[in-house]
Amino acid sequence: MNDVEADTEVVGAGRGVPLTVADVIEESPDARSLVFTVPEQLRDRFTYRPGQFLTLRVPSDQTGSVARCYSLASSPHTDPAPKVTIKRTAGGYGSNWLCDNVSIGDTIEVLPPAGVFTPSSLDTDFLLWAAGSGITPVMSILKSAMASGSGRAVLCYANRDERSVIFTAELRELAARYAGRLTVLHWLESVQGLPTRAQMAGFVHTVFSGSTTFESFVCGPASFMAVIKEALTEAGVPRERIHLEVFQSLAGDPFADEIGSAADDADVQDAATVRIDLDGESHQLRWPRRATLVDTMLAAELDVPYSCREGQCGSCAATVLRGRVEMATSDVLQPEDIADGLILACQATPVSDDLHINF
Ligand SMILES: Cc1cc2nc3c(=O)[nH]c(=O)nc-3n(C[C@H](O)[C@H](O)[C@H](O)COP(=O)(O)OP(=O)(O)OC[C@H]3O[C@@H](n4cnc5c(N)ncnc54)[C@H](O)[C@@H]3O)c2cc1C
Repeated sequence: MNDVEADTEVVGAGRGVPLTVADVIEESPDARSLVFTVPEQLRDRFTYRPGQFLTLRVPSDQTGSVARCYSLASSPHTDPAPKVTIKRTAGGYGSNWLCDNVSIGDTIEVLPPAGVFTPSSLDTDFLLWAAGSGITPVMSILKSAMASGSGRAVLCYANRDERSVIFTAELRELAARYAGRLTVLHWLESVQGLPTRAQMAGFVHTVFSGSTTFESFVCGPASFMAVIKEALTEAGVPRERIHLEVFQSLAGDPFADEIGSAADDADVQDAATVRIDLDGESHQLRWPRRATLVDTMLAAELDVPYSCREGQCGSCAATVLRGRVEMATSDVLQPEDIADGLILACQATPVSDDLHINF
C-alpha cells in the first residue's frame, strides 16, 4: 500500500477524500467557484486532464448525502489548484447548498477527477461551444490549448443574457493575450434569440476558412447540444471530432465502496472469459454473467476507471474488440459510439463467452 492509499483509508468514508476549500469566488450573480487545496500525498490521484470533472458529496438531512459532479474550470496547464464552478439550478438541492453553505477553510468529500470529455492532443484547432454553466469544462480545454497547444481556437458561448455570463473578465483577458489564435464570440438569447441549426451550420463554414479538421467540444443544455451537433454534422464535421458532455445529477451514491451484486455459484460457473487491456497491460478474467465489468474488475483489484456507476458520466467507457455485451443504460453514448464498439463498463454484462475489451 502506498502513502496515498494509506491516507485515503484513514478517511474511512468510501472512495472520496476530504479536500479543504482554499478559496470561494463569486463568478456571477448565480455562480460561484470553489478552489481546493490538494495535499502533497494526493497530488497524483488529483492530477487531471482538461475537461474532466470532480464529484462532490453534499450533506443532506433527507438522504445523508447526495453526489454531484462539477467540471474543473481550471486548467492543469495554467492553474496551481483545481477549481470547480457551480451554477445555481432553480429548485435544485445540491447546487444551492454548495452556493449557500461553503466557506474558505471548509472540507468537502471529493472523488478524484474522471471523465472522457478531454482532447487527446492540444496541438490542433478547436471549435468550442458552451451554453450557461457548460462553459466550465470548455474553459479548461480553452486555457490549456492556448497555454500548451499550438493551434487556434474559436469559442462560441451562449447565455440567456449578459448577467448570466460566467468568466467574463477571464475570457476578455485570454482573447487579448492570444489575439492571433483565439476568437471569443458571445451569443445572447436576449439579443439574438436561441441559436438555430441553420445559423450555426453557416457559422461553422466560416471558421478556419471552411476547413473541418478541427476538434469540436460542446457542453450545455440538451437542446443546445442537439442543435450544435446537427449543425456540425451538416457542415461536414466527422462524428469522431465532435465531443459532447451532458450535465445531469446523479441518482445513486458513487461514494459507497461496496462492489455490486455478488455473483452466485451458478453465475460464476457460467462466467464468460474476458481479456482486458488496461494501462499497457493485459489481464485475463472470468466475468460472471450478471456482474458488470466494473464490479468484476474491482473484485480482481484492477484499477478500472469509473465514477458514477450509473451509466451517466462516461468515465468507464471502453471499446469491445471481440464479443458482445448488454448494457442496462447507455444514454450518454451516441448511437455512432455504440456502433464503433464503445461501452460503459459499469453497465455492461457479457453476452458472448469470450470477449476482448480495451480501456
Ligand atoms: C460530468 C458533469 C459535469 C458537471 N459540471 C457542472 C458544472 O461545472 N457546473 C454546474 O453548475 N453543474 C455541473 N453539472 C451538473 C451538476 O452535477 C448538477 O446536476 C446541478 O448542479 C444540479 O444539481 P441540483 O442538486 O442543484 O439540482 P437537482 O438535481 O435538480 O436537485 C433536485 C434533486 O434533489 C433532490 N433533493 C431535494 N432536496 C433534497 C435534500 N434535502 N436531500 C437530498 N435530495 C434532495 C430532489 O428530489 C431532486 O431529485 C455537471 C454534471 C455532470 C454529470
